[in-house]
Amino acid sequence: APLPMQGKRGLIMGVANDRSIAWGIAKAMHAAGAELAFSYQGEAFGKRLEPLAETVGSDFMVDMDVTDDASMDRGFEALAAHWPTIDFVVHAIAFSDKSELTGRILNTSRANFKHSLDISCYSFLDVARRAHPMMVENGGTLLTLTYQGSNRVVPSYNVMGIAKAALESATRYLANDLGPDGIRVNAISPGPMKTLAGAAIGGARKTFKHTDMNAPLRANATLEAIGGTAVYLASDAGACTTGEIIRVDGGFHVLGMPQAENL
Ligand code: NAD
Repeated sequence: APLPMQGKRGLIMGVANDRSIAWGIAKAMHAAGAELAFSYQGEAFGKRLEPLAETVGSDFMVDMDVTDDASMDRGFEALAAHWPTIDFVVHAIAFSDKSELTGRILNTSRANFKHSLDISCYSFLDVARRAHPMMVENGGTLLTLTYQGSNRVVPSYNVMGIAKAALESATRYLANDLGPDGIRVNAISPGPMKTLAGAAIGGARKTFKHTDMNAPLRANATLEAIGGTAVYLASDAGACTTGEIIRVDGGFHVLGMPQAENL
């Protein structure tokens, strides 16, 4: 049988290092037969990405800062010159000033609110608009990454929870807008992961441990499970799924309280 992503090619945005969620997805997409292009934020991340990209047979990497229109214009122009059409984009990008990922939500500044929502939510709309002409002929899939802090309060997640709520809403609006063009739009919602962005959140280690001890599966998400979910959503197996938020969190989201053994 052909591999599920055979003949499909896509852009992976947001690999910072080999613990990045985007990297877990890239490996799973590659194993499933996809051809990959990567975008990264600035030269330093580019240097780290190069040897990783090589291991999945990718020869296309481009610098794209999602806050900078000129950088996005250049990046998508270069991508379109390399591949006139693509089948999927993985958007695994978020940011908030670390000083506001702790303490009270009351201390959210206007500047960091705008910056966080710009990078963590608007960028998905912007990427969708830019990828649309490259997908409109054959259809495609857009994937983003969210977290349950969008609709439940997780201490210290603060402005990022608001950004993820907006991102999940954007996923539904995009799914409806792009549905007639055969483009599906979904979000994966993993439990806490030990990544660069994850470590910036106050009390990250406690959140990780709490989820690990209390989730129905008594385990956190893995890069492999997140990657497998991305392959399902981007492949024909996900053909009738759009506007969906899929949790990959060991079932943690069903809980109303910690397990009895941990009280
Ligand atoms: P990560 O630090 O490995 O990746 C975050 C990426 O965002 C980095 O590659 C960084 O370069 C990129 N980025 C930030 N600002 C950018 C900008 N202006 N332009 C371009 N790129 C920019 O961390 P991660 O945990 O793999 O994060 C990926 C996604 O997964 C994020 O949306 C995050 O919110 C989400 N997520 C993470 C967790 C977790 O616990 N780590 C849980 C659920 C969802």
